[in-house]
Amino acid sequence: MPTYRQVIRQYENRLAEKDRDSNVPKVLFYHFAHKEPHQLYLMMDEEVDADLLAQFEEAMDLYMQGYPVQYIKGVETFFGRDFVVNDKVLIPRYETEELVENILYHIDDYFDGDQPLDLVDVGTGSGAIAISLEREESRLRVYATDISEEALEVARENAQRLGAEVTFMQGDMLAPLIEKGLKFDIFVSNPPYIPVNQEIEHVVKDNEPHVALFGGQDGLYFYRQIFQSASKVLKDRAILAFEMGYDQREAMEKEVRHYFPEDDFVILKDMNGKDRMLFIYHGMPKIDNHK
Ligand code: GLN
Repeated sequence: MPTYRQVIRQYENRLAEKDRDSNVPKVLFYHFAHKEPHQLYLMMDEEVDADLLAQFEEAMDLYMQGYPVQYIKGVETFFGRDFVVNDKVLIPRYETEELVENILYHIDDYFDGDQPLDLVDVGTGSGAIAISLEREESRLRVYATDISEEALEVARENAQRLGAEVTFMQGDMLAPLIEKGLKFDIFVSNPPYIPVNQEIEHVVKDNEPHVALFGGQDGLYFYRQIFQSASKVLKDRAILAFEMGYDQREAMEKEVRHYFPEDDFVILKDMNGKDRMLFIYHGMPKIDNHK
């Protein structure tokens, strides 16, 4: 049997030739051999067990064919927790961790005391946002919706594995919330926001669910859907928090002014300096103490 070093080298070279991410062989061994980087480093001259090698080679083949490494592993880390993922859900993105982080700061800033707060995540996908918030902030009563029953299956599994109490509802955008007459203090969504004709990476376009990616001609279709009927599901004082595309600031500002003429709002940048998050302060003034 070849050693870890030999196997990893061989695949690193093949990936480098094709201009693909040459970290992937190590990442797959961390995962399949259940080793941390410092442990794998100490094992590099050991022989790879035959079963493990077969598993690794099968996974590498999928990766070479353009399948995302997160779907191959079946898990992605988000806000410090491992979430099960498959090709029925969008792979949780780093930028979305920043949305979760900013929502937590907003809760501290805008909602005094310890009364429970009702929060909904519309289009929850893997449940990454809803479940992370439920685990981080004990005041929250968390609801989450998705139009895809297959996505909700993944989200329910994640909630169960991570011990989160989230009420999941199947339905289109706000419909299940309106139907049940629910009203929220905090409304969250990372809707599909890529304009249909925008060029995006093949690994995303060919593998991730389009129902989670594309938001009509200008990418804002689902925001308009939400804005139009938001007042039906909001308490008098509420915060709305959205992820958005890096190039949507101007168009987004126009929509927000149109649908929420009375309300303050802010667009925050992500770590890469790109416009990424929209917060609307409904029925309450914006406080000027966060980034
Ligand atoms: N940020 C994702 C991407 O760039 C898109 C997510 C979304 O549309 N909500 O692939």
